[in-house]
Amino acid sequence: MTKRIKREAQNLGFALVGITSPDPPSHLEIYSHWLQAGMHGEMNYLATARAKERRADPRKILPDCQSILVVAVNCLPTKKPQNPSSTAKVAAYAQGDDYHKIITERLQKLVHFIEAQIDTPFSFKIYTDTGPILERELAQRAGLGWIGKNTCLIHPRLGSHFLIGEVLLSIPLAFDTPFVSDHCGSCTRCIDSCPTNCILPNRTIDARRCISYLTIEHRGDIAHELRAKVGDWVFGCDICQDVCPWNLRFSAPTEDDAFQPRAFLKDPSLEDFLTLSPDEFRTNLSGSPLKRSKRDGLLRNAAVAAGNSKREDLIPMLEKNLINEKTLQVRSHAVWALLQIRGDKAKRALQKTSKSVQDPTILAEIHEALASWEIDREDTQ
Ligand code: SF4
Repeated sequence: MTKRIKREAQNLGFALVGITSPDPPSHLEIYSHWLQAGMHGEMNYLATARAKERRADPRKILPDCQSILVVAVNCLPTKKPQNPSSTAKVAAYAQGDDYHKIITERLQKLVHFIEAQIDTPFSFKIYTDTGPILERELAQRAGLGWIGKNTCLIHPRLGSHFLIGEVLLSIPLAFDTPFVSDHCGSCTRCIDSCPTNCILPNRTIDARRCISYLTIEHRGDIAHELRAKVGDWVFGCDICQDVCPWNLRFSAPTEDDAFQPRAFLKDPSLEDFLTLSPDEFRTNLSGSPLKRSKRDGLLRNAAVAAGNSKREDLIPMLEKNLINEKTLQVRSHAVWALLQIRGDKAKRALQKTSKSVQDPTILAEIHEALASWEIDREDTQ
């Protein structure tokens, strides 16, 4: 039965499949310390009493759980951007359709397959980044790979561009041998390459500094001291995976249609994001992981990337957003971007907008930006 289920999981497009027990996770203490230290930022859903209780024991989720089936799907798209230097960067996993839907649907098919194999009814629960369960530990316990210093699940022949899903099952299946070896060795490339230094020595991440968190989960202003470090990422970040030797050597793109870039994300430019209208957001990104950031989040992120690009040709778009956008956050980040671009054109744009902007907060930011400009000019004279 276990073999048949695994074969069917592979037929459904899962690159890796393994089975583990529903025993409590051994990483719980590290995870609890991580929460206590507030490193989850604003992701308060991770820290509710109910989530904590369920995370501590999978049987709190499914009381008659006997096995946990863990799958991983390769999400690295085949098509690379044509023009990487002008592309607004979007994490590889997010360029296609929303993986929650894709993986859940495939796991439901797998459950139907199991139902067809056995006569007795059974209970199950499907998760894919959707529940209080330590997915990577389960994957490691199911033999799928080790948890790297960058906190990703890494397979020694396939790298780490995976998304993980689980089915808690009330039927007994044969458990796989856990993947116990650690192949990171003395390498620290991911830690050294992270622009925000968010990767900690105990294989956790300070989410509050992680570019992925900042551009997706974080709802407020991006802290000033982190904006330059966000670079040209508009949604998510792949740096700690892209530099990993296991990916450089082994990760290969998937042919899976679901993870190929949708039309809007084939070669997106900063212009595409800075001018993204509500209608375009709905039509181009319906069913995409990018919806998580909401339109305002994408415009905020695009402003940060535009400021970091120092491109003068983006000034008119930033100016327009500064004047027309409803959300203070988007307008405020446009002021910051113009200040980073510098030059007479950016200064004139700020001076012009200061005559039409009514909001006192934004007006104060514009005046502050112009004042800092003058101070800098005096300093260089
Ligand atoms: Fe491990 Fe090096 Fe990969 Fe980081 S970059 S996960 S240290 S092998």
